[in-house]
Amino acid sequence: MADNDNGKKPPKRKINKQKVKTPMPEQAPEDRILNFNEVPIGYDDDMAVNEAERCLDCKKKPCVAGCPVDVDIPAALQFIVKRDFAGAFRKIKETNFLPAICGRVCPQEDQCELHCVLGKKGEPGGVGRLERFVADWAMKNDAGSDLPECAPSTGKKVAIIGSGPAGLTAASDLIQLGHEVHVFEALHKPGGVLFYGIPEFRLPKKILVKEINGLAEMGVKFHMNYVIGATETLSELRDRFDAIFIGVGAGLPWFLNIPGENLNGVYSSNEFLTRVNLMGAYDFPNNDTPVKAGERIVVVGAGNTAMDSARTAKRLQPENVTLVYRRSREEMPAREEEIHHAEEEQIEMKLLHTPVAILGDDEGKVKAVRLQRMELGEPDDSGRRRPVPIDDSEFDLSCDSVVVALGCSPNPLMTKVEPDLKMNTRRGTVIADEDTLETSLPGVFAGGDIVTGGATVILAMGNGRQAAQAMHRYLETGVARAPEPEAIG
Ligand code: FAD
Ligand code: SF4
Repeated sequence: MADNDNGKKPPKRKINKQKVKTPMPEQAPEDRILNFNEVPIGYDDDMAVNEAERCLDCKKKPCVAGCPVDVDIPAALQFIVKRDFAGAFRKIKETNFLPAICGRVCPQEDQCELHCVLGKKGEPGGVGRLERFVADWAMKNDAGSDLPECAPSTGKKVAIIGSGPAGLTAASDLIQLGHEVHVFEALHKPGGVLFYGIPEFRLPKKILVKEINGLAEMGVKFHMNYVIGATETLSELRDRFDAIFIGVGAGLPWFLNIPGENLNGVYSSNEFLTRVNLMGAYDFPNNDTPVKAGERIVVVGAGNTAMDSARTAKRLQPENVTLVYRRSREEMPAREEEIHHAEEEQIEMKLLHTPVAILGDDEGKVKAVRLQRMELGEPDDSGRRRPVPIDDSEFDLSCDSVVVALGCSPNPLMTKVEPDLKMNTRRGTVIADEDTLETSLPGVFAGGDIVTGGATVILAMGNGRQAAQAMHRYLETGVARAPEPEAIG
């Protein structure tokens, strides 16, 4: 070990040999189903230091390889060990524009934490929990809230279509590079799924509002209730702007295509979550857009959106919420943490069942869902065992509403009127160059779910950043692609 300037050996770093993550304090299930407040309460300073002390500060930084935006995780964690929380925040912010959001909603178990060496003999380092701690600490202590400096104006104007994590990240990077940035958003509030989809009890909206206000203060102009493809077309926008980023996400819900889906009381998860999250239906009559879900709510699906829908439904305090899924618990695509929280909250799980019809009363309102029992057969293309219907096993489950949470694909509203914009017709996604994210239309770039199909917040943010760099090159040189190394000089 190298000596210090004063000739003394640096003190040995304390390593916490604890095999499991420092527990996260949470609201008790019986309390939290009565409110929309956040479920995990967050670490205090000592808990955070205790957890950071588990980190081995690995030289090869395997966890960083799992982070889509390359946060220098060990460096940030060592700042926490030294109780320099502002330093940790600055380190994370170097590459992650929205740490308070990513610390809450990133699937860390499939990213940084999946690669953490501690995972070989116990639980991996609690990277997500620590990222959240640091971001919350900075917010509480008003540290690091200075707005980043913007380069002098380049005189170029860019349009961002959609204000989800992809669009917001692109907007942040482009305004800092000196361009004039306008964001066009179909809804009345910015944030995309972060606002209308992910519920308050997983992502408090005040966090998002703070980040968006920061962008507005930096000079980003937000145009709300502005639907590209209806209010104005992409072609018209191209005449007004020097470059465009399409980040319109994948918000077109899938349905079951079974009889009865048009009855009153059938919601797509998108509509249900939007009514509750964006329109504040849970706070009726303070917000005058109620959601009439009734006393017995059935949610169909088993992904994260289904868990969010079921847990949101539970907080409307009906008699019961039942989740219907055609395979078994093992095949559920939702994050384990979400399934665990749903189970703790007494969501009834009807596994190995599929809806075959929704039944209505004389007034056209939902009164029951007809379910068929299933068994598992051979694995299908996804590697999960295929659900096989059991003959003559149908029965009716009485209910007042059905929330269909099967997944989403891109909304063709904007793209269908742009014949020259190359699309993957099977997936409905926009085709963009892998390196630059430029589409078939010069100067038009795209990223996030509209390119990848339904993915994650951090991947959408990574796309926003990648596109912003290429857009900057395009605006400066007329070419989006970086020159090949041998062509330089
Ligand atoms: P979006 O977030 O979808 O934003 C697109 C925006 O574009 C929207 O605001 C939309 O209104 C707007 N728009 C659409 N069309 C137009 C138009 N024509 N003109 C103008 N504006 C338009 N990922 C995670 O990592 N962790 C999670 O926990 C998680 N939970 C999720 C829960 C739910 C309920 C859902 C639906 C998704 C979840 N995801 C999660 C996925 C994640 O939210 C998305 O991958 C991510 O938001 C995609 O970002 P985006 O910017 O591409 O699009
Ligand atoms: Fe720390 Fe785990 Fe990353 Fe190693 S892999 S530096 S232990 S977080």
